[in-house]
Amino acid sequence: MSTRALIVVDVQNDFCEGGALAVDGGSAVARAVTGYLADQADRYAMVVATRDWHAPLPDTNAGHFAVDAPPDFVTTWPVHCVAGTPGAEYHPDLALPPGTVHVRKGQSRQDYSGFEGDVVDASGSLADVLTAAGVTDVDVVGLATDHCVTATASDAVSAGFTATVLLDLTAAVALPTTLRAVARLADEGVTLTASDAG
Ligand SMILES: [Zn+2]
Repeated sequence: MSTRALIVVDVQNDFCEGGALAVDGGSAVARAVTGYLADQADRYAMVVATRDWHAPLPDTNAGHFAVDAPPDFVTTWPVHCVAGTPGAEYHPDLALPPGTVHVRKGQSRQDYSGFEGDVVDASGSLADVLTAAGVTDVDVVGLATDHCVTATASDAVSAGFTATVLLDLTAAVALPTTLRAVARLADEGVTLTASDAG
């Protein structure tokens, strides 16, 4: 018997259209995740939502913010998701259920995985919180497919969970990095599927 959690990664204004580091299709993902949860919330013992939550300049968040050269959009990025700013808020079309566990990551660090973040109002890591709730399986959705979604799913497997990415509920920065990311996830044993695949 599996106990399943949904991890919603970084569905934040700065990663959606009009934001500082917009991903094409980000706002559509916000709406799609909301629709999915309206139909499928019963599948999940827990919903987790992560946010990138960076320190403002002059803190580069360990080199995550490009300051001396243009961002390469692979390891350096425009300033985004500064803690407490509108860009760091969840997209307004993302409706999270009561009891959602919130995670903040990247405070003066360049965290990509939700498992590297700090769980709000709980002690211990995200892996600890999931384990304490009896979670065995996680489904990962959100932004962006080729970076934080992949890092989160990969860390879920490393932490001993069975992990699935619901690809239709994600959006990516770029195709080449997405192809590498999904190949890596498949190698690591992550299931790649669609939200309506049963
Ligand atoms: Zn970031």
